[in-house]
Amino acid sequence: MAPSPDHCPALVLNADFRPLSYFPLSLWPWQEAVKAVVLGRVNIVSQYDRIVRSPRRELRLPSVISLKEFAPAGRRPAFTRFNVFLRDRFTCQYCGRRFPTHDLTFDHLIPRSKGGRTTWDNIVTSCSGCNLLKGDRLAHQCGMTPMSRPHQPTTQMLQQHGRSFPPNFLHESWRDFLYWDSELDPY
Ligand SMILES: [Zn+2]
Repeated sequence: MAPSPDHCPALVLNADFRPLSYFPLSLWPWQEAVKAVVLGRVNIVSQYDRIVRSPRRELRLPSVISLKEFAPAGRRPAFTRFNVFLRDRFTCQYCGRRFPTHDLTFDHLIPRSKGGRTTWDNIVTSCSGCNLLKGDRLAHQCGMTPMSRPHQPTTQMLQQHGRSFPPNFLHESWRDFLYWDSELDPY
């Protein structure tokens, strides 16, 4: 039996055939992908076997599409929880261990109670244990210094980090466009 179209997302590549985003991987639901094809905004690079029909036409669902016009990456990434975790590679900056997102939290280097702000350079990824341990103290008061000094990452840096976190589901037609060798990159 053919899979439901809902299980057929399209991998979206930029005009240079690199994924628009690695992590989260840039995937569009089939409706959005088909719409972009019909509007002529993307080229179909690869297709699923699954066919969808409308009264006028039928189309094999695209599994990989590429934008016709290059979309430049924003130079300054959004300041979001996810991007802070990604910058720190989901690793607690105090104990150095990697955790799933739901076990991670943030630590303010300069605690908010002491006037510290919620900004790229005052926030580090921390596990709840370390966060509790550090509490409201400054680094020199508790001897807990983050592994790396927090800073605002570039979009390029986040993409680079994202490459080392492969998603759970991969259609075989996507593999050519993803750089899994980067998993072996020494950081
Ligand atoms: Zn920790």
